[in-house]
Amino acid sequence: MMENERDIACLGKAYADSLKILQEQSSTVLPESSTLEKTRSTLLQDLPEHGQGIEQTTDHLLRDIAPALNASSLSPNYYGFITGGVTPAARVADSLVSTYDQNPSVHLPDQTVASNVEDKALRLLMDLLHFDQKEWSGSLTTGATASNVLGLACGREYVLNERIKSHLGPDSEESVGSLGLLKACRIAGVEEVDILTTMAHSSLFKASSILGLGRACVHDVGTSNGYVTFDLQKVEQRLKSSRHNTSSIVVVSCGEVNTGLFATHSLAEVRTLRNLCDRYGAWLHVDGAFGLFARVVDGSPEFETVAQGARGLTLADSVASDGHKLLNVPYDCGFFFCRHPRIAEQVFQNPNAAYLTTNNATTDTIQSPLNFGIENSRRFRGLPVYATLMAYGREGYADMLKRQIRFARAVAAHLFDHADFELLPRNVFSDRASIEQNIYIIVLFKAKNEALNDALVKMINASSKMFVSGTVWDHCAASRIAVSNWQVNLDRDLTVVKTVLENVLSEWSKESS
Ligand SMILES: *Cc1c(COP(=O)(O)O)cnc(C)c1O
Repeated sequence: MMENERDIACLGKAYADSLKILQEQSSTVLPESSTLEKTRSTLLQDLPEHGQGIEQTTDHLLRDIAPALNASSLSPNYYGFITGGVTPAARVADSLVSTYDQNPSVHLPDQTVASNVEDKALRLLMDLLHFDQKEWSGSLTTGATASNVLGLACGREYVLNERIKSHLGPDSEESVGSLGLLKACRIAGVEEVDILTTMAHSSLFKASSILGLGRACVHDVGTSNGYVTFDLQKVEQRLKSSRHNTSSIVVVSCGEVNTGLFATHSLAEVRTLRNLCDRYGAWLHVDGAFGLFARVVDGSPEFETVAQGARGLTLADSVASDGHKLLNVPYDCGFFFCRHPRIAEQVFQNPNAAYLTTNNATTDTIQSPLNFGIENSRRFRGLPVYATLMAYGREGYADMLKRQIRFARAVAAHLFDHADFELLPRNVFSDRASIEQNIYIIVLFKAKNEALNDALVKMINASSKMFVSGTVWDHCAASRIAVSNWQVNLDRDLTVVKTVLENVLSEWSKESS
């Protein structure tokens, strides 16, 4: 129900033209720097007194802004960060999301099916990732950062509420949510909440700060040379020694962002963590932003080691993951699973808001999403999730991830064999077999020549044929290829990577001779 035909025409033109531009752009991953500069100069300086109208605005968007955006999601050769792409089915659904602009925060079964769709989307996700729908509740978030905030918030609530009960009695209804963190800690006799983890993603520190626990509370309990692997003895020592005035949350880095390696390697290891958490009253949270998807390829020997990294995680109390990474739905979309809906509700409830309650709570069991997350009003981000899972199913997602892993392994093998590059971490990838076992979707590497290494990321990205992220590994500059786009094609994309790297090497030898 647009206002008139002109508006509808602009909408159609924007969609059709942006798809055309996107096809033209897809051979390069970055816009020209001259395009970026020119576009910046065309951006509005001030709020126009008189609006310029939808036609002129549409022209500006298509002519100036669209060509100055990068192909981070559109190109299969953009390997920066972990951006994911957008599956065609998710893109179709997302255009409906914009058109209908539904707000699924309140379950209104007499008015819209939106919250039912979201609920289904979450259940399909649980099914894909082998989480028992009867045991787990979930919500869609803006991303894994938000999901980590939710997980630590629930953990904080649980570990402190348990301490409060030990002081005020088991029937005490007092909680962090009702009392606030400061008062709750005073009553509980807790001076610190420890977050015990290994090579945590930066967002975990951010989540700790947001929640008033503080970045300093995040402690690494990894083995000294296994990088992301838990030192279980260290975990136990820490839990044991801090029993009196400290409560703890243990966080599993299911997929470390620089290397793609996993913190745990078997069901037995997660079970040990679970038992330790139970013994010392700790909460077990998983940051599985991209690693959780390793559960999709469980069962095939080729991916056994990777799948082991994501086994046993249903023993956790809460799990964070991303939709806009390996699920390949549009930004912004993450999800959060929790086994303790009552604890979540203690944190996230909207009290005294009768107008927000469901109008026929008697007949269905869908929880009101607004009491299970940060936002109240929000985007209908469940629709692309629902659509993409319908379109491609379990097999489609397994195939997608297998192609991504095989491609990452082929790139890693190429670098391992190459005289001028080195695959990292060195002690993990000491032979070809270790690549075939351990590489998931991330390849970390450096150039052996130090001067070239310092310029490597810049030179690769200057090609605009592919994009990699720079990082620091063992105090050294390193380059990182993260594979996360559904379009990956082993032969085609391996040729791109090899060609770009050879061009960089010959350019370097010309420059330095
Ligand atoms: C990407 C990532 C996050 C943060 O996710 P956002 O979607 O950017 O909020 C958290 N943890 C890990 C391991 C990640 O890879």
